[in-house]
Amino acid sequence: MSEEKNQDKIMEQMGMGGDFMINLLFQAQAATTINSPIIMNKVTGDLRNIKNSVITGGTDSVFDTVFEEFKADEKLIGTVHYEPNFWRSIFGKAFIGTKKINDFIRMKQGDDSIIIDDYQYVVMVPNGCCTNDSCPVKKFYEIYNSQLLQVQEKEEEPVQVQELTQESV
Ligand SMILES: [Zn+2]
Repeated sequence: MSEEKNQDKIMEQMGMGGDFMINLLFQAQAATTINSPIIMNKVTGDLRNIKNSVITGGTDSVFDTVFEEFKADEKLIGTVHYEPNFWRSIFGKAFIGTKKINDFIRMKQGDDSIIIDDYQYVVMVPNGCCTNDSCPVKKFYEIYNSQLLQVQEKEEEPVQVQELTQESV
């Protein structure tokens, strides 16, 4: 047995296998994210594109789509897989906690005292993982943000017109 495998075995016997290590990593990242984030990840968008399901509070199906899209990228490895609901709640709080988004949602719900003249929003989401541009947590936030926006109506696909020759008509 190689030394490395032996070490794995010892860790396993001590209950310190993969789950233990990822849990430890998660606990550290979660505490840092809440208490003293390493970085605030910025996501932006247009308020007018926010999905109705966000405004009415039913966003479960949005989250399912977010997580599916996240999992589909095999490069994104880390604590998001381990505890997606934690990262979901961090993003959700930052998003809904952003005054402009909150105002917009209240306006859509009928509060006519709110006037919005600039529809661009910026959300700063705490990240206790790392500052890498390819950080899985950052990517998760970006996917989440894009999924909270209405899918822009696709331009009509140009209809393929078969070239008709004089003979085929
Ligand atoms: Zn990271």
